[in-house]
Amino acid sequence: MRSRGWLKIQDGCDEHCTFCATTLARGANRSRPIPELVAEARALSEHHAELVLTGVHIGTYGRDRGSGLGTWDSEVPTRAPNPEPRGPSLGRLLEALIAAVPRVRFRLSSIEATEVDDAIARLLIGAPRQLAAHLHAPLQSGSNRVLKRMGRHWYTADAYRARVEWLAARLPVFGLGADVIAGFPGETAADHRATLALIEALPFTYLHVFPYSARPGTAAMRLGEEVPARAVRDRASELRLLGDAKKEAYREKRKGQTGDGVVSGHAAGRLELLTEDYLSVYLPTAAWDGRARCEVTVD
Ligand code: SF4
Repeated sequence: MRSRGWLKIQDGCDEHCTFCATTLARGANRSRPIPELVAEARALSEHHAELVLTGVHIGTYGRDRGSGLGTWDSEVPTRAPNPEPRGPSLGRLLEALIAAVPRVRFRLSSIEATEVDDAIARLLIGAPRQLAAHLHAPLQSGSNRVLKRMGRHWYTADAYRARVEWLAARLPVFGLGADVIAGFPGETAADHRATLALIEALPFTYLHVFPYSARPGTAAMRLGEEVPARAVRDRASELRLLGDAKKEAYREKRKGQTGDGVVSGHAAGRLELLTEDYLSVYLPTAAWDGRARCEVTVD
């Protein structure tokens, strides 16, 4: 039994991160029209309690269809650092999907922290049954110098931190994950410490740590200043240890509290349910009443 489905909203990416081979393989941002996605979500909702919005760079959804930067929204109580775009945007798409299929819980697969605009923030805060309080927001590095070398020009460590802190202050339950690259070419011990310090300061509930490895054809291969393999390994394991500690601490904090569980699989007589904040909770299959979505207690 699987109650989670996937809705691909766009393909491609207009950015050129120096470590990434995706744009070489997948081309520019191409967003699917909102009416087509609403129709597909309606059909998927017949068999799925949760739909995950996927794509290569979903935060830029709609930018190829005429959206541009707009104004601040006065309904958001404290000013967020992100204005809402005009025209189609991920926030507008989410609003349309939630209005069409309110019984489904939507989840964002992976989104840049600084691309969570006011419309998305409003839904995360105000519609927790319809949009899961979970962001997987690639960080990659906590050093502005390294972010620049990575070609990630659209945010700084401070901008990332500000957006996450703004959201965390308003979300009582908040699953927060990130991708982090250890040992990117030119990364110094001080850069690595800056990444550790930022991760320590933010409410991450899990991390995906990648020791840097060169991908053929990428610009990072020409940057030089390769970090010795031993240092890459050591930095990756230090980041993983920190990620594991934060994951355990969050689980401990949630223990005994309720979660909005959606069945995500079953094995060996146990049913796995995924909460809104991306925690797995297991129940004996024999105790299951057949519902794809139900309240669970985090253990
Ligand atoms: S890492 Fe993400 S944002 Fe950067 S080029 Fe690749 S797909 Fe685009």
